[in-house]
Amino acid sequence: MYSLITRFFQRGLPAGIMALLLSLSMVTGCSSGADAAALPSEMSSESSFESEIPASSESLPPETADEVSAAPSSLPETAQSSTDTATEAHTATDTSASPSDTLDPLTVHFLDIGQGDSTLITCGDHSMLIDAGDNNVGTKIQLYLTKQGITSLDYAIGTHPDADHIGGLDVILYKFDVNRTFMPDIVSDTRTYDDVIQTVRNKNYKIEHPVPGETYSLGDASFEILGPLKEYDNTNSNSICLKLTHGSNTFLFCGDAELEAESDLLSSGADLNADVLKVSHHGSDTATSQSFLQAVSPSCAVISCGDDNKYGHPHQEVLDRLNQDDITVYRTDLQGTVTVTSDGSSLNWSTEKNAPENQIFSSPASTFTDSAASADDSSASSDGSASGSNPADTASSQSQTTGTAGTGNGAAPVSSGAEETQNTSDSLPQQSAQDNYQYILNANTHKFHLPGCSSVDRMAEKNKIYSSETRDAIISQGYDPCGNCNP
Ligand SMILES: [Zn+2]
Ligand SMILES: [Zn+2]
Repeated sequence: MYSLITRFFQRGLPAGIMALLLSLSMVTGCSSGADAAALPSEMSSESSFESEIPASSESLPPETADEVSAAPSSLPETAQSSTDTATEAHTATDTSASPSDTLDPLTVHFLDIGQGDSTLITCGDHSMLIDAGDNNVGTKIQLYLTKQGITSLDYAIGTHPDADHIGGLDVILYKFDVNRTFMPDIVSDTRTYDDVIQTVRNKNYKIEHPVPGETYSLGDASFEILGPLKEYDNTNSNSICLKLTHGSNTFLFCGDAELEAESDLLSSGADLNADVLKVSHHGSDTATSQSFLQAVSPSCAVISCGDDNKYGHPHQEVLDRLNQDDITVYRTDLQGTVTVTSDGSSLNWSTEKNAPENQIFSSPASTFTDSAASADDSSASSDGSASGSNPADTASSQSQTTGTAGTGNGAAPVSSGAEETQNTSDSLPQQSAQDNYQYILNANTHKFHLPGCSSVDRMAEKNKIYSSETRDAIISQGYDPCGNCNP
């Protein structure tokens, strides 16, 4: 544990977070193996990113597990692991022929690379990188991929030419053998973009412009291109949008696509529904309209943004919409690298750090103006650093040692969830009046949950319907099972 704390010191985290980590380590005992973790000497000063790798060996594809476990610095430091899955639930939620028995697990890593996006997806020995953060994080991403045992990528996708998405892509394209490189069919006159193009040339790659409707395979997973549906003046809206499917689990990634692109996606009739939404444009209010969110109807959403970023991302309006719809939200600025593993039917989340729920749903933007936000990431090499108040610092002092990551009971195994829900201080009289319910339905979103699901804690009481009916009966009434708790 000491080495873990030391390393967080080295990373210069504020005292409030240190206190939280210390108390967490006492409560949770930390993950097994973390105490033994020691950084290789050459890494300890050069980069702290390896220490941020939250992957546990069981979440890795079998082929890479050996390599990773041989590297001490990659041992788990996951502050919490919110096991949303119950093994009993697998068969109940399988609509196809038991995919969990046959599929290689899929892991999606939302990397904590500051302001920007970078998402690594692995399935068996196949892998794909969607975006590579800003110019200063290419090497960090490279090291993370290497620690995962990755030597080549099936796909590298630059969703759009903004620096906070393709800044590190030149490093990735240079350091790894990349089978296919996707970018939208637009050009940019920035140095960052030039660097990518030069690397593509040097490595004899070619950039492909995938077209909506095309489907590509990634081992036992596949993804369909949904956008961009046309060329927009706004760089962000030209983002490649794709839906990833693994068994019955689905994930939607649309880069920084803004409202106009969302609107076109909606009218295209594409099936946007997904269990997990990578929130577009770092949670900016220029994206994630209510109607778009309704069509996607995710159980969980991930916001990739930098701590104390100068745009005030994520914006409160978006957080409110997500909260209103009972969506479990993960934020890389507060929780570090976020990973989710799919077995084809259920999702298992883990985060590098904890953050209390009140922090997850509050924007750092209260002091930011719209004009600051609209300046955005279209500049060539923004690194997102800015001065200003740091809400994370102050909020961390309120954090408790519950071991949850912004999702209330999210860290609790489903089996004990029901009890926890009844114990929460804000449980209302209706709840105790109906002691036979097995599921909680949301009249607003038409999803249904197990009582212990973290979404239930945030659900407006007026939307809650306590049901003792069977799962099939509830589904026949038009309700969808939550992808988070897998009722
Ligand atoms: Zn961006
Ligand atoms: Zn952008």
